[in-house]
Amino acid sequence: MTLAIILSALAMTAIVALRYLAASGLFAFATTCVHPGLYARSGRQIRREIGWSLLSAAIYGIPAGVVAWAWQERGWTLIYTDWAAYPLWYLPLSLILYLLAHDTWFYWTHRWMHRPRPFRMAHAVHHASRPPTAWAAMSFHPIEAVTGAVVIPALVFVIPVHVAVLALVLAVMTVMGVINHVGWEILPRALLRSRLGKWLITASHHQRHHEQYTCNYGLYFRVWDRLCGTDQGISETLAHADPANPGAT
Ligand SMILES: [Zn+2]
Ligand SMILES: [Zn+2]
Repeated sequence: MTLAIILSALAMTAIVALRYLAASGLFAFATTCVHPGLYARSGRQIRREIGWSLLSAAIYGIPAGVVAWAWQERGWTLIYTDWAAYPLWYLPLSLILYLLAHDTWFYWTHRWMHRPRPFRMAHAVHHASRPPTAWAAMSFHPIEAVTGAVVIPALVFVIPVHVAVLALVLAVMTVMGVINHVGWEILPRALLRSRLGKWLITASHHQRHHEQYTCNYGLYFRVWDRLCGTDQGISETLAHADPANPGAT
């Protein structure tokens, strides 16, 4: 049993690491095409971002591996594979519930990590990326990585989820983590300025967090930032650096 759990954790670590390298590598490559030279002076920083991210991948892999084993071998989780087990409308609802729950957890743990002691001990590692690159998506101190690694594995014991929706949640988590740090706005200006766009977190929104530190703490949605008065809009430098998105808020 112990060996099975260890093997499962190792497999999950490898998957998380490869997923990170593929997603960050893809967006880093896109950056060299769309904004050549944007990362030109970030070589040392990128090597550090990759190092911390691969360490985080190992930390993410442990609870993920335990949960994968618990699901496969013991059936303890609420992950299901039968499409008929719940009504079809529950599929999008479960996706939204997972993203909202993850966003809520992230917002409040992130705010906590900006208190002086946890910031010095852990979160400073993430903010050492100035400005961040696509490789900073998982660049966290191990303490911070633990707070991020436990949330989805805990949710699968609380909120029923189809395995395909769970895969989608993990894909959104991975891609958004990269997009938020890529250093240029990927979303079209029309979407950013739309009603929906004003509730979504994008590169320009999270960039402002890396510039100002004390605002824009969210992960996917601006709901908590708006409710708690910590939303400062999007980064002016990023908006002005991109002619496709001049000064949108
Ligand atoms: Zn960040
Ligand atoms: Zn922060």
